[in-house]
Amino acid sequence: MKRTHREHTQATYEMSPEHILEVKDLHVHIAVDDYDLHAVRGVSFSLKKGETLGLVGESGCGKSVTSKEILGINPNNCTGSGQILYRTKAGKVLNLLELSRDGETYRSIRGSEISMIFQEPMTAFSPLYTIGNQLAEIVLLHDPKATKASARAHVLEMLKKVGIANPEKRIDQYPHEFSGGMLQRALIDMMLCCNPDILIADEPTTALDVTIQAQILELMRSLQKEFGMSILFITHDLGTVANMCDHVAVMYLGEIIEFGTVHQIFHNPQHPYTRGLLRSLPKMNQSREKKLYIIDGVVPLPVELPPCCGFHDRCEACMDDVCPKRDIPEFTVEPGHMVRCMLMEQGARKHG
Ligand code: SF4
Repeated sequence: MKRTHREHTQATYEMSPEHILEVKDLHVHIAVDDYDLHAVRGVSFSLKKGETLGLVGESGCGKSVTSKEILGINPNNCTGSGQILYRTKAGKVLNLLELSRDGETYRSIRGSEISMIFQEPMTAFSPLYTIGNQLAEIVLLHDPKATKASARAHVLEMLKKVGIANPEKRIDQYPHEFSGGMLQRALIDMMLCCNPDILIADEPTTALDVTIQAQILELMRSLQKEFGMSILFITHDLGTVANMCDHVAVMYLGEIIEFGTVHQIFHNPQHPYTRGLLRSLPKMNQSREKKLYIIDGVVPLPVELPPCCGFHDRCEACMDDVCPKRDIPEFTVEPGHMVRCMLMEQGARKHG
């Protein structure tokens, strides 16, 4: 569905009362030169209030395109179809795909109801304005009752909350005076200034060193508890997922190929790709001589994909007479645990 530049009347949608977001059969096509890249292929998931869902996979598997489609910030050469149902703070259920991305409704949702933290804090702030000015601008933009003085007071309070030492001095400093970890804290602050219901965190700790990573994840967990927001946590790093998430969706070539609770994915992974990702994690007791496991090959370009397993040319368990030749259905491993792999055909109950 090409998003238009006019607001128009929405159909009435229903969603489960416990959900705040339901993505249903989402497809995103990207037009590049003469090619049609099918970057997201039938993705469905839901998010409950206060829950954290991890979207996991290598670069090029469609995680970021999915999350940007939710926020309506993919470039104009992207076309989305399916449904992205969102329950607004006012309790109305909207299909975000039907909104004009430049329209008033989307602008009122973006930032104040659904926010996003990007992976590169160094480029998220303008070097020309102080951190305090940039944060206060967000508050003023989204809260019509706010004054300059109240916005500054709110920013000061939030800077304290995200653990920035000496906030009275820091509020008037420029981005180049902040370290990478402090900038990421300020960025989290920027996203939380309007108390969003959903925070999309796209590789929020990738650009940071390991000790700062741990602090930022701890900060996000504590703020989530305090504000009760839901988090869509996007990463290629299963190690951070174990600490952060309630549920995990493993993506490959634009599809969710395994979905379950953190416990199910870490203790009973079924898809060869999920198992490969877990095997490639470094272990504490692993000898230095032993090389880390790698999954050979790269994610192919999603162009003119035949109906078959997208992982077949990298899969050590590929059955040549089956996997490259047919569409792969979803199988239920146990309640709440789904996998898309023909290895399950013998032992699992097909659903959906
Ligand atoms: Fe491997 Fe076949 Fe399963 Fe695909 S469907 S992951 S090729 S075993």
